[in-house]
Amino acid sequence: MEMNETGLILTTVYDNYMHGTGLRTGWGFSCIVKASDRTILFDTGADSRTLLHNMEKLGLDPKGIDLIVLSHMHRDHTGGLEGVLERNPDVRVYVPESFPEGFKTGIKSHGSGLVEVSGSMEITRGVWTTGELGTSIKEQSLMVKTERGLVIITGCAHPGVVNIVKEAKRLMNERICLVLGGFHLSGTGDAELRSIMSSLREIGVEKVAPCHCSGDRARELFSEEYGNGFVANGVGMVIRI
Ligand SMILES: [Zn+2]
Ligand SMILES: [Zn+2]
Repeated sequence: MEMNETGLILTTVYDNYMHGTGLRTGWGFSCIVKASDRTILFDTGADSRTLLHNMEKLGLDPKGIDLIVLSHMHRDHTGGLEGVLERNPDVRVYVPESFPEGFKTGIKSHGSGLVEVSGSMEITRGVWTTGELGTSIKEQSLMVKTERGLVIITGCAHPGVVNIVKEAKRLMNERICLVLGGFHLSGTGDAELRSIMSSLREIGVEKVAPCHCSGDRARELFSEEYGNGFVANGVGMVIRI
């Protein structure tokens, strides 16, 4: 597909759910975001072997990555970073300010750029971070402006998926066309799941693509509630907006 100026392509390259063939699953999450003129790697999964294998199979070259955004300091999101920087150090890495100093030094030791994120900021044209949210586990999510509304990408959603979406709405004041990523709802009961879904509906979330730590039951209920607006995201899924 010819990509226009505002076109957005999301490719899930690391996840515990499978979508494509010839790919590997693993506990963790990573998504390649091609927006405007930049290619962004959002999270890196738990290991670079799996990540790089999947990227190769999907025709995505690590040297094509311009920016890396890490959502939070859990190994299943940061573990693949080292292997990517070994192949392409010519990137800028956005990490929450609260990351350990040793981790930040490790990035700089590759000669890569480091940006410490506290508040919301624009990363490249039309692509924003929510800034660090949450208390015990601080996490940033990505927001991409498209012609069809805002796309929100979460890592594990430790601050709460509803809180993240509310904050994105407050920051950007745009209709929300898609929320994709880990929703952190494994083991959450049906009543709470239904209340989360109705909150997301109230905010106006049009489509959902829960994967990684969202939980099977949450995916089931989201699928019932959202119908065609539900995307069973997993490794190898390509979404064009
Ligand atoms: Zn986590
Ligand atoms: Zn996770």
